[in-house]
Amino acid sequence: MEKNSRSPYEIAIAQFDKAAAHLDLKAGIREMLRHCKRELIVHFPVKMDDGSVRIFTGYRVHHSTVRGPSKGGIRFHPDVTLDEVRALAMWMTWKCAVVGIPFGGAKGGVVCDPKQMSENELENLTRRYATEIAILMSPEGDIPAPDVNTNPRIMAWIMDTYSMHRGYSTPAVVTGKPVEIGGSLGRSEATGRGVMFTTREALKVKGIPLDGATVAVQGFGNVGAVAAYLLQDKGCKIVAVSDSQGGIYNPKGLDARDVMRFKAENRTVVGYPGTDRLTNEELLELECDVLVPCALENVITAQNAPRIKARVIAEGANGPTTPEADEILYDRGIFVVPDVLANAGGVTVSYFEWVQGLQFFFWSEREINLQLREIMVRSFNDVLRISEERKVDMRVAAYILAIRRVAEATMIRGIYP
Ligand code: NAD
Repeated sequence: MEKNSRSPYEIAIAQFDKAAAHLDLKAGIREMLRHCKRELIVHFPVKMDDGSVRIFTGYRVHHSTVRGPSKGGIRFHPDVTLDEVRALAMWMTWKCAVVGIPFGGAKGGVVCDPKQMSENELENLTRRYATEIAILMSPEGDIPAPDVNTNPRIMAWIMDTYSMHRGYSTPAVVTGKPVEIGGSLGRSEATGRGVMFTTREALKVKGIPLDGATVAVQGFGNVGAVAAYLLQDKGCKIVAVSDSQGGIYNPKGLDARDVMRFKAENRTVVGYPGTDRLTNEELLELECDVLVPCALENVITAQNAPRIKARVIAEGANGPTTPEADEILYDRGIFVVPDVLANAGGVTVSYFEWVQGLQFFFWSEREINLQLREIMVRSFNDVLRISEERKVDMRVAAYILAIRRVAEATMIRGIYP
Protein backbone atom coordinates (compact mmCIF):
# COMPACT_ATOMS: atom_id res chain seq x y z
CA MET A 1 0.00 0.00 0.00
CA GLU A 2 1.36 3.40 -1.00
CA LYS A 3 2.03 5.84 1.81
CA ASN A 4 0.69 9.12 0.57
CA SER A 5 3.28 11.80 1.03
CA ARG A 6 0.65 14.40 1.86
CA SER A 7 -1.02 14.61 5.25
CA PRO A 8 -4.83 14.22 5.51
CA TYR A 9 -5.29 17.97 6.01
CA GLU A 10 -3.08 18.75 3.00
CA ILE A 11 -5.26 16.38 0.95
CA ALA A 12 -8.43 18.02 2.30
CA ILE A 13 -7.08 21.45 1.31
CA ALA A 14 -6.05 20.19 -2.16
CA GLN A 15 -9.58 18.83 -2.69
CA PHE A 16 -11.06 22.14 -1.51
CA ASP A 17 -8.80 24.23 -3.78
CA LYS A 18 -9.59 22.07 -6.82
CA ALA A 19 -13.34 22.59 -6.37
CA ALA A 20 -13.11 26.22 -5.23
CA ALA A 21 -11.39 27.04 -8.54
CA HIS A 22 -14.79 26.41 -10.20
CA LEU A 23 -16.51 28.97 -7.95
CA ASP A 24 -16.39 32.72 -7.94
CA LEU A 25 -15.64 32.98 -4.22
CA LYS A 26 -14.52 36.20 -2.57
CA ALA A 27 -10.89 35.78 -1.50
CA GLY A 28 -11.72 36.35 2.18
CA ILE A 29 -14.47 33.70 2.23
CA ARG A 30 -12.21 31.23 0.45
CA GLU A 31 -9.43 31.78 2.96
CA MET A 32 -11.88 31.44 5.86
CA LEU A 33 -13.13 28.07 4.55
CA ARG A 34 -9.57 26.76 4.24
CA HIS A 35 -9.12 27.15 8.01
CA CYS A 36 -10.66 25.41 10.99
CA LYS A 37 -12.58 27.80 13.24
CA ARG A 38 -11.39 26.44 16.61
CA GLU A 39 -8.96 23.78 17.77
CA LEU A 40 -8.93 22.57 21.36
CA ILE A 41 -6.01 20.46 22.61
CA VAL A 42 -6.39 18.82 26.01
CA HIS A 43 -3.93 16.87 28.15
CA PHE A 44 -5.70 15.07 30.94
CA PRO A 45 -5.06 12.45 33.65
CA VAL A 46 -6.70 9.03 33.77
CA LYS A 47 -6.61 6.63 36.71
CA MET A 48 -5.44 3.23 35.44
CA ASP A 49 -6.34 -0.14 36.97
CA ASP A 50 -2.87 -0.59 38.50
CA GLY A 51 -3.30 2.61 40.52
CA SER A 52 -1.06 4.74 38.29
CA VAL A 53 -2.12 7.96 36.60
CA ARG A 54 -1.46 8.40 32.87
CA ILE A 55 -1.70 11.60 30.88
CA PHE A 56 -3.55 11.40 27.56
CA THR A 57 -3.84 13.96 24.76
CA GLY A 58 -7.12 14.69 23.03
CA TYR A 59 -8.46 17.09 20.42
CA ARG A 60 -11.76 18.65 19.40
CA VAL A 61 -11.76 20.74 16.25
CA HIS A 62 -14.59 22.79 14.77
CA HIS A 63 -14.09 23.55 11.10
CA SER A 64 -17.30 25.52 10.56
CA THR A 65 -20.41 26.46 12.53
CA VAL A 66 -21.95 28.69 9.87
CA ARG A 67 -24.82 26.39 8.85
CA GLY A 68 -25.60 25.13 12.34
CA PRO A 69 -24.04 23.41 15.37
CA SER A 70 -20.89 21.49 14.57
CA LYS A 71 -21.19 17.73 14.16
CA GLY A 72 -18.59 14.99 13.98
CA GLY A 73 -17.33 11.82 15.53
CA ILE A 74 -14.70 11.02 18.14
CA ARG A 75 -11.85 8.69 17.21
CA PHE A 76 -9.79 6.71 19.74
CA HIS A 77 -6.58 5.59 18.03
CA PRO A 78 -2.80 5.60 18.73
CA ASP A 79 -2.16 7.48 15.44
CA VAL A 80 -4.66 10.34 15.98
CA THR A 81 -3.06 13.72 15.17
CA LEU A 82 -4.31 17.29 15.14
CA ASP A 83 -3.73 17.33 11.37
CA GLU A 84 -5.97 14.29 10.84
CA VAL A 85 -8.69 15.69 13.12
CA ARG A 86 -8.65 18.97 11.17
CA ALA A 87 -9.11 17.13 7.86
CA LEU A 88 -11.94 15.02 9.25
CA ALA A 89 -13.63 18.15 10.67
CA MET A 90 -13.45 19.86 7.27
CA TRP A 91 -14.86 16.78 5.51
CA MET A 92 -17.78 16.84 7.98
CA THR A 93 -18.60 20.43 6.97
CA TRP A 94 -18.83 19.42 3.30
CA LYS A 95 -20.70 16.20 4.07
CA CYS A 96 -23.43 17.98 6.06
CA ALA A 97 -23.72 20.65 3.36
CA VAL A 98 -23.91 18.10 0.50
CA VAL A 99 -26.93 16.39 2.07
CA GLY A 100 -28.38 19.73 3.18
CA ILE A 101 -28.61 19.08 6.91
CA PRO A 102 -28.20 22.10 9.21
CA PHE A 103 -24.83 21.27 10.78
CA GLY A 104 -21.28 22.51 10.54
CA GLY A 105 -18.26 20.22 10.73
CA ALA A 106 -16.26 18.98 13.73
CA LYS A 107 -14.17 16.02 14.77
CA GLY A 108 -12.49 14.80 17.93
CA GLY A 109 -9.90 12.28 18.90
CA VAL A 110 -7.85 10.89 21.74
CA VAL A 111 -4.37 9.42 21.25
CA CYS A 112 -4.81 6.02 22.88
CA ASP A 113 -5.01 2.33 22.09
CA PRO A 114 -8.40 1.17 23.37
CA LYS A 115 -7.49 -2.46 22.58
CA GLN A 116 -4.83 -2.25 25.34
CA MET A 117 -7.20 -0.72 27.92
CA SER A 118 -9.70 -2.29 30.30
CA GLU A 119 -13.39 -1.34 30.21
CA ASN A 120 -12.89 0.65 33.42
CA GLU A 121 -9.89 2.57 32.03
CA LEU A 122 -11.80 3.31 28.83
CA GLU A 123 -14.73 4.65 30.85
CA ASN A 124 -12.41 6.86 32.95
CA LEU A 125 -10.73 8.17 29.80
CA THR A 126 -14.04 8.85 28.05
CA ARG A 127 -15.64 10.64 30.99
CA ARG A 128 -12.59 12.82 31.61
CA TYR A 129 -12.19 13.66 27.90
CA ALA A 130 -15.93 14.51 27.74
CA THR A 131 -15.48 16.83 30.72
CA GLU A 132 -12.43 18.49 29.12
CA ILE A 133 -14.25 19.18 25.83
CA ALA A 134 -17.52 20.16 27.56
CA ILE A 135 -16.51 23.80 27.08
CA LEU A 136 -17.26 23.24 23.38
CA MET A 137 -19.88 20.49 23.49
CA SER A 138 -23.65 21.06 23.84
CA PRO A 139 -26.89 20.13 22.05
CA GLU A 140 -26.96 23.63 20.54
CA GLY A 141 -23.23 23.99 19.87
CA ASP A 142 -21.34 20.80 19.11
CA ILE A 143 -22.67 17.25 18.98
CA PRO A 144 -20.17 14.33 18.92
CA ALA A 145 -20.83 10.85 17.52
CA PRO A 146 -18.93 7.55 17.18
CA ASP A 147 -15.98 7.10 14.84
CA VAL A 148 -13.12 4.59 14.64
CA ASN A 149 -12.93 2.60 17.93
CA THR A 150 -15.80 4.44 19.61
CA ASN A 151 -19.30 3.01 19.82
CA PRO A 152 -22.79 3.45 21.37
CA ARG A 153 -21.45 2.42 24.82
CA ILE A 154 -18.90 5.26 24.72
CA MET A 155 -21.58 7.70 23.53
CA ALA A 156 -23.69 6.65 26.53
CA TRP A 157 -20.80 7.57 28.90
CA ILE A 158 -20.41 10.95 27.18
CA MET A 159 -24.15 11.64 27.41
CA ASP A 160 -24.22 10.57 31.06
CA THR A 161 -21.14 12.64 32.00
CA TYR A 162 -22.54 15.77 30.36
CA SER A 163 -25.97 15.15 31.95
CA MET A 164 -24.42 14.70 35.44
CA HIS A 165 -22.78 18.13 35.14
CA ARG A 166 -26.07 19.68 34.01
CA GLY A 167 -28.21 17.92 36.59
CA TYR A 168 -30.70 16.61 34.02
CA SER A 169 -30.64 14.21 31.07
CA THR A 170 -29.44 15.78 27.85
CA PRO A 171 -29.79 13.11 25.15
CA ALA A 172 -29.27 15.53 22.22
CA VAL A 173 -25.63 16.21 23.22
CA VAL A 174 -24.37 13.12 21.34
CA THR A 175 -25.69 10.84 18.61
CA GLY A 176 -25.05 7.18 17.95
CA LYS A 177 -26.34 6.39 21.48
CA PRO A 178 -28.02 3.12 22.41
CA VAL A 179 -31.75 3.18 21.54
CA GLU A 180 -32.60 2.65 25.26
CA ILE A 181 -31.34 6.16 26.13
CA GLY A 182 -32.56 8.12 23.14
CA GLY A 183 -30.65 6.64 20.21
CA SER A 184 -32.43 6.45 16.88
CA LEU A 185 -33.82 3.35 15.25
CA GLY A 186 -31.93 2.72 12.03
CA ARG A 187 -28.76 4.55 13.12
CA SER A 188 -26.53 1.46 13.24
CA GLU A 189 -27.41 0.57 9.63
CA ALA A 190 -27.64 4.14 8.33
CA THR A 191 -24.19 4.55 6.77
CA GLY A 192 -24.32 1.20 4.97
CA ARG A 193 -27.90 1.94 3.87
CA GLY A 194 -26.79 5.26 2.41
CA VAL A 195 -23.99 3.45 0.56
CA MET A 196 -26.61 1.07 -0.86
CA PHE A 197 -28.90 3.93 -2.01
CA THR A 198 -26.10 5.85 -3.72
CA THR A 199 -24.64 2.68 -5.32
CA ARG A 200 -28.07 1.94 -6.74
CA GLU A 201 -28.25 5.42 -8.27
CA ALA A 202 -24.70 5.15 -9.65
CA LEU A 203 -25.50 1.82 -11.34
CA LYS A 204 -28.51 3.47 -13.02
CA VAL A 205 -26.21 6.19 -14.40
CA LYS A 206 -23.81 3.58 -15.77
CA GLY A 207 -26.68 1.48 -17.20
CA ILE A 208 -25.66 -1.57 -15.13
CA PRO A 209 -28.60 -3.66 -13.85
CA LEU A 210 -28.68 -3.84 -10.03
CA ASP A 211 -29.86 -7.42 -10.24
CA GLY A 212 -26.75 -9.57 -10.62
CA ALA A 213 -24.25 -6.69 -10.31
CA THR A 214 -21.02 -8.03 -8.79
CA VAL A 215 -19.70 -6.28 -5.67
CA ALA A 216 -16.40 -6.36 -3.73
CA VAL A 217 -16.30 -4.81 -0.24
CA GLN A 218 -13.05 -3.89 1.52
CA GLY A 219 -13.54 -3.62 5.30
CA PHE A 220 -16.34 -5.87 6.53
CA GLY A 221 -17.21 -3.74 9.57
CA ASN A 222 -20.12 -1.54 10.57
CA VAL A 223 -20.34 0.20 7.20
CA GLY A 224 -19.07 -2.54 4.88
CA ALA A 225 -21.07 -5.48 6.22
CA VAL A 226 -24.35 -3.53 6.22
CA ALA A 227 -23.72 -2.20 2.70
CA ALA A 228 -22.97 -5.78 1.60
CA TYR A 229 -26.14 -7.38 2.94
CA LEU A 230 -28.40 -4.52 1.83
CA LEU A 231 -26.94 -4.66 -1.72
CA GLN A 232 -27.37 -8.44 -1.65
CA ASP A 233 -31.03 -7.93 -0.66
CA LYS A 234 -31.41 -5.81 -3.82
CA GLY A 235 -30.11 -8.62 -6.02
CA CYS A 236 -26.38 -7.84 -6.17
CA LYS A 237 -23.83 -10.65 -5.99
CA ILE A 238 -21.21 -10.09 -3.26
CA VAL A 239 -18.13 -11.77 -4.75
CA ALA A 240 -15.48 -10.66 -2.22
CA VAL A 241 -15.16 -9.08 1.24
CA SER A 242 -12.20 -8.43 3.51
CA ASP A 243 -11.06 -7.24 6.92
CA SER A 244 -7.70 -6.42 8.45
CA GLN A 245 -6.72 -10.14 8.28
CA GLY A 246 -7.32 -10.44 4.51
CA GLY A 247 -10.06 -11.17 2.03
CA ILE A 248 -12.28 -13.98 0.77
CA TYR A 249 -13.55 -14.56 -2.76
CA ASN A 250 -16.27 -16.64 -4.37
CA PRO A 251 -17.29 -15.71 -7.92
CA LYS A 252 -20.67 -17.43 -7.38
CA GLY A 253 -21.48 -14.99 -4.55
CA LEU A 254 -21.31 -14.93 -0.74
CA ASP A 255 -24.18 -14.73 1.74
CA ALA A 256 -23.19 -11.51 3.55
CA ARG A 257 -25.30 -12.23 6.65
CA ASP A 258 -23.77 -15.66 7.03
CA VAL A 259 -20.29 -14.16 6.65
CA MET A 260 -21.23 -11.73 9.47
CA ARG A 261 -22.20 -14.66 11.67
CA PHE A 262 -18.88 -16.34 10.83
CA LYS A 263 -16.94 -13.16 11.58
CA ALA A 264 -18.72 -12.74 14.93
CA GLU A 265 -17.59 -16.25 15.91
CA ASN A 266 -14.09 -16.18 14.42
CA ARG A 267 -13.27 -12.43 14.58
CA THR A 268 -12.36 -12.48 10.86
CA VAL A 269 -13.95 -13.32 7.53
CA VAL A 270 -10.84 -15.29 6.55
CA GLY A 271 -11.50 -19.03 6.50
CA TYR A 272 -15.17 -18.72 5.56
CA PRO A 273 -16.05 -22.07 3.94
CA GLY A 274 -16.14 -22.36 0.15
CA THR A 275 -14.02 -19.28 -0.54
CA ASP A 276 -10.57 -18.55 -1.91
CA ARG A 277 -8.24 -16.26 0.02
CA LEU A 278 -7.12 -12.98 -1.45
CA THR A 279 -5.22 -9.99 -0.14
CA ASN A 280 -6.73 -6.57 0.44
CA GLU A 281 -4.66 -5.27 -2.48
CA GLU A 282 -5.99 -8.00 -4.79
CA LEU A 283 -9.56 -7.28 -3.73
CA LEU A 284 -9.27 -3.68 -4.93
CA GLU A 285 -8.24 -4.85 -8.40
CA LEU A 286 -10.84 -7.60 -8.71
CA GLU A 287 -13.06 -8.05 -11.78
CA CYS A 288 -16.41 -6.69 -10.52
CA ASP A 289 -19.04 -4.03 -11.23
CA VAL A 290 -18.86 -2.24 -7.87
CA LEU A 291 -15.98 -1.70 -5.46
CA VAL A 292 -16.94 -0.51 -1.97
CA PRO A 293 -13.91 0.56 0.14
CA CYS A 294 -15.08 0.65 3.75
CA ALA A 295 -11.84 0.45 5.77
CA LEU A 296 -9.00 2.93 5.58
CA GLU A 297 -7.76 6.15 4.03
CA ASN A 298 -5.48 6.26 0.94
CA VAL A 299 -6.03 2.72 -0.37
CA ILE A 300 -6.82 3.72 -3.97
CA THR A 301 -3.69 5.44 -5.23
CA ALA A 302 -1.91 6.44 -8.44
CA GLN A 303 -0.26 3.01 -8.27
CA ASN A 304 -3.33 0.77 -8.33
CA ALA A 305 -5.93 3.11 -9.95
CA PRO A 306 -4.83 2.10 -13.51
CA ARG A 307 -5.55 -1.55 -12.64
CA ILE A 308 -8.95 -1.16 -10.98
CA LYS A 309 -11.61 -2.99 -12.97
CA ALA A 310 -14.80 -1.97 -11.13
CA ARG A 311 -17.03 0.43 -13.06
CA VAL A 312 -18.45 2.05 -9.93
CA ILE A 313 -16.64 2.87 -6.67
CA ALA A 314 -18.80 3.79 -3.66
CA GLU A 315 -16.67 5.23 -0.85
CA GLY A 316 -18.02 3.90 2.45
CA ALA A 317 -14.74 4.89 4.14
CA ASN A 318 -13.58 8.47 4.59
CA GLY A 319 -10.74 9.44 2.25
CA PRO A 320 -10.01 6.07 0.56
CA THR A 321 -8.93 7.68 -2.75
CA THR A 322 -5.96 10.01 -3.21
CA PRO A 323 -6.35 13.12 -5.43
CA GLU A 324 -3.91 11.59 -7.98
CA ALA A 325 -6.03 8.41 -8.17
CA ASP A 326 -9.18 10.53 -8.65
CA GLU A 327 -7.80 11.93 -11.90
CA ILE A 328 -6.87 8.47 -13.23
CA LEU A 329 -10.27 6.98 -12.35
CA TYR A 330 -12.12 9.88 -13.98
CA ASP A 331 -10.07 9.57 -17.19
CA ARG A 332 -10.83 5.84 -17.24
CA GLY A 333 -14.59 6.47 -16.95
CA ILE A 334 -14.90 4.85 -13.52
CA PHE A 335 -17.79 6.41 -11.63
CA VAL A 336 -16.76 7.34 -8.07
CA VAL A 337 -19.43 8.17 -5.48
CA PRO A 338 -17.27 10.26 -3.11
CA ASP A 339 -17.20 9.74 0.65
CA VAL A 340 -18.92 13.07 1.45
CA LEU A 341 -21.94 11.74 -0.44
CA ALA A 342 -21.73 7.92 -0.25
CA ASN A 343 -21.26 7.64 3.52
CA ALA A 344 -23.42 10.63 4.49
CA GLY A 345 -26.26 8.33 5.59
CA GLY A 346 -24.66 8.09 9.03
CA VAL A 347 -24.67 11.79 9.78
CA THR A 348 -28.13 12.12 8.23
CA VAL A 349 -29.65 9.67 10.70
CA SER A 350 -27.55 11.29 13.44
CA TYR A 351 -29.40 14.48 12.51
CA PHE A 352 -32.71 12.60 12.88
CA GLU A 353 -31.50 11.32 16.28
CA TRP A 354 -30.62 14.86 17.40
CA VAL A 355 -34.05 16.18 16.31
CA GLN A 356 -35.78 13.31 18.15
CA GLY A 357 -33.66 13.99 21.25
CA LEU A 358 -34.53 17.70 21.27
CA GLN A 359 -38.24 16.96 20.89
CA PHE A 360 -38.41 13.81 23.04
CA PHE A 361 -40.56 12.38 20.25
CA PHE A 362 -39.36 9.28 18.44
CA TRP A 363 -39.99 8.11 14.89
CA SER A 364 -40.56 4.61 13.52
CA GLU A 365 -37.73 2.83 11.70
CA ARG A 366 -39.80 2.95 8.51
CA GLU A 367 -40.07 6.74 8.77
CA ILE A 368 -36.30 7.03 9.34
CA ASN A 369 -35.42 4.84 6.36
CA LEU A 370 -37.87 6.62 4.04
CA GLN A 371 -36.53 10.06 4.96
CA LEU A 372 -32.95 8.79 4.61
CA ARG A 373 -33.67 7.44 1.13
CA GLU A 374 -35.24 10.72 0.06
CA ILE A 375 -32.24 12.76 1.24
CA MET A 376 -29.63 10.38 -0.24
CA VAL A 377 -31.31 10.13 -3.66
CA ARG A 378 -31.96 13.87 -3.85
CA SER A 379 -28.37 14.67 -2.86
CA PHE A 380 -26.99 12.15 -5.37
CA ASN A 381 -29.00 13.80 -8.16
CA ASP A 382 -27.98 17.32 -7.05
CA VAL A 383 -24.31 16.28 -7.28
CA LEU A 384 -24.79 14.37 -10.56
CA ARG A 385 -26.37 17.45 -12.19
CA ILE A 386 -23.35 19.60 -11.28
CA SER A 387 -20.96 16.87 -12.43
CA GLU A 388 -22.68 16.73 -15.84
CA GLU A 389 -23.06 20.50 -16.25
CA ARG A 390 -19.48 21.30 -15.29
CA LYS A 391 -17.90 18.14 -16.72
CA VAL A 392 -16.16 17.34 -13.44
CA ASP A 393 -15.99 14.18 -11.36
CA MET A 394 -18.53 13.52 -8.62
CA ARG A 395 -16.10 14.56 -5.84
CA VAL A 396 -15.45 17.98 -7.34
CA ALA A 397 -19.20 18.31 -8.00
CA ALA A 398 -20.04 17.42 -4.37
CA TYR A 399 -17.48 19.95 -3.13
CA ILE A 400 -18.84 22.63 -5.48
CA LEU A 401 -22.33 22.08 -4.05
CA ALA A 402 -21.09 22.02 -0.45
CA ILE A 403 -18.70 24.97 -0.68
CA ARG A 404 -21.37 27.05 -2.42
CA ARG A 405 -23.85 26.32 0.37
CA VAL A 406 -21.38 27.15 3.15
CA ALA A 407 -20.11 30.27 1.34
CA GLU A 408 -23.66 31.52 0.76
CA ALA A 409 -24.55 30.99 4.43
CA THR A 410 -21.41 32.91 5.41
CA MET A 411 -22.29 35.81 3.11
CA ILE A 412 -25.88 35.94 4.36
CA ARG A 413 -24.76 35.96 8.00
CA GLY A 414 -21.97 38.45 7.31
CA ILE A 415 -18.59 38.80 8.95
CA TYR A 416 -18.89 39.95 12.56
CA PRO A 417 -18.25 42.68 13.69
P1 NAD B 1 -15.33 -0.72 11.71
O1 NAD B 1 -14.20 -0.73 12.66
O2 NAD B 1 -16.67 -1.25 12.11
O3 NAD B 1 -14.91 -1.55 10.38
C1 NAD B 1 -13.72 -1.38 9.71
C2 NAD B 1 -13.40 -2.67 8.97
O4 NAD B 1 -12.20 -2.48 8.23
C3 NAD B 1 -13.15 -3.87 9.90
O5 NAD B 1 -13.73 -5.02 9.33
C4 NAD B 1 -11.62 -4.00 9.90
O6 NAD B 1 -11.19 -5.32 10.13
C5 NAD B 1 -11.32 -3.55 8.48
N1 NAD B 1 -9.93 -3.14 8.32
C6 NAD B 1 -9.11 -2.53 9.20
N2 NAD B 1 -7.89 -2.39 8.68
C7 NAD B 1 -7.94 -2.93 7.44
C8 NAD B 1 -7.01 -3.09 6.40
N3 NAD B 1 -5.74 -2.72 6.55
N4 NAD B 1 -7.44 -3.65 5.24
C9 NAD B 1 -8.70 -4.05 5.10
N5 NAD B 1 -9.62 -3.95 6.06
C10 NAD B 1 -9.25 -3.38 7.20
O7 NAD B 1 -15.42 0.80 11.18
P2 NAD B 1 -16.64 1.48 10.40
O8 NAD B 1 -17.47 2.25 11.37
O9 NAD B 1 -17.28 0.49 9.49
O10 NAD B 1 -15.84 2.59 9.56
C11 NAD B 1 -15.14 2.25 8.38
C12 NAD B 1 -14.89 3.52 7.58
O11 NAD B 1 -16.12 4.18 7.33
C13 NAD B 1 -13.99 4.57 8.29
O12 NAD B 1 -13.26 5.24 7.28
C14 NAD B 1 -15.01 5.53 8.88
O13 NAD B 1 -14.47 6.83 9.09
C15 NAD B 1 -16.04 5.52 7.78
N6 NAD B 1 -17.37 5.99 8.19
C16 NAD B 1 -18.06 5.33 9.15
C17 NAD B 1 -19.32 5.78 9.50
C18 NAD B 1 -20.16 5.05 10.52
O14 NAD B 1 -21.32 5.43 10.70
N7 NAD B 1 -19.66 4.02 11.14
C19 NAD B 1 -19.87 6.90 8.89
C20 NAD B 1 -19.14 7.55 7.89
C21 NAD B 1 -17.89 7.06 7.55
